[in-house]
Amino acid sequence: MRIEELPTPCFVVDEAAIEKNLKILNGVMQRTGAKIILAQKAFSMTTMYPLIGEYLSGTTASGLFEARLGYEEMGKENHVFAPAYREDEIDEIISICDHIIFNSFSQLEKFKDKALAAGKKVGLRVNPECSTQVGHEIYDPCSTGSRFGTKLEDFRPELLDGVSGLHFHTLCQQNSDDLATTLQAFEAKFGKWLPQMDWVNFGGGHHITRDDYDIATLEACIKRMQDLYGLEVYLEPGEAVALNAGYLIASVLDFHKNGIDIAILDTSATCHMPDVLEMPYRPPLIGSGQPDEKPFTYRLGGQTCLTGDVIGDYSFDEPLQCGDRLVFGDMAIYSMVKTNTFNGMPLPAIAVQSKDGSCQIVRQFGYQDFKLRLA
Ligand SMILES: *Cc1c(COP(=O)(O)O)cnc(C)c1O
Repeated sequence: MRIEELPTPCFVVDEAAIEKNLKILNGVMQRTGAKIILAQKAFSMTTMYPLIGEYLSGTTASGLFEARLGYEEMGKENHVFAPAYREDEIDEIISICDHIIFNSFSQLEKFKDKALAAGKKVGLRVNPECSTQVGHEIYDPCSTGSRFGTKLEDFRPELLDGVSGLHFHTLCQQNSDDLATTLQAFEAKFGKWLPQMDWVNFGGGHHITRDDYDIATLEACIKRMQDLYGLEVYLEPGEAVALNAGYLIASVLDFHKNGIDIAILDTSATCHMPDVLEMPYRPPLIGSGQPDEKPFTYRLGGQTCLTGDVIGDYSFDEPLQCGDRLVFGDMAIYSMVKTNTFNGMPLPAIAVQSKDGSCQIVRQFGYQDFKLRLA
């Protein structure tokens, strides 16, 4: 069907845009020999995994369920990191993952031998204590009190036996200058153990597929690790894989007036794009302007009872009408994976737009998807 015929609300993922991103990532892999894997936390649309698997080396997960998804749906290299693993899950995790990354030496002590006995690669996440993002504490693993990664002061080199790699993840939507800064801190603190390692993982947060991303600096960082320490380099971006590759289409249901013109949509910030409130950010909306930039300004809100269920203020060339379709951009990442059915909101359908422009619905949800989560 055509995109105009899709039901709303609906996520539409643009296959051509995903492939364009994958080609950029694969270019880095080809030129440097680094391996890039998908961080499923940002984008777990399994319909796209066969395509992603053509270009990337595999998947990474934040726990058992994501690890299973990567194992079942992509079946390539499968990495996992969690701040702590459960005793009752570790055996299954070890059986389906090939790189198991631990957050601390106490976790290593508990589970390392099991993983090694199964022939799996064991890594340690370190905290280079180098914050390169300002004002985004909840996305900064180097922030004070963060639970992520072992700090140098807690390092117990006598327990490194069997550990074949170090992992750091400190970035979020950042360019490669911040990676270079982080790498300096990482080397200054942990460099003396790198010669005994086989691999290093630079984590995610690299906005590699953004127009202004400096790929040459990224590649220089990769080459440095390869040349100086003989390491295999992994990157595990999430966002960069599906950046600007999806839409959320919604319809205008009605209007309200309270100091400002308000349009009520059949989508919801809190249920369908929670990062709009959590990050927070104002999602792009095709054909719209900033408030008062165009003649007709509206506050766009959802159907839930939450007063703060507001997507943002946008302006338009013409007054909105009931039934108008609005297309929010960059909705593939961190939206589809974070939806919820709070207040009984239906979940958006999920569709793919193929390279020829035609759309197919791959999943629709209903009342049961709401009810089955409750008891
Ligand atoms: C979130 C996360 C990623 C992916 O981050 P993006 O910002 O989506 O690229 C990779 N690795 C780890 C450990 C993460 O927590």
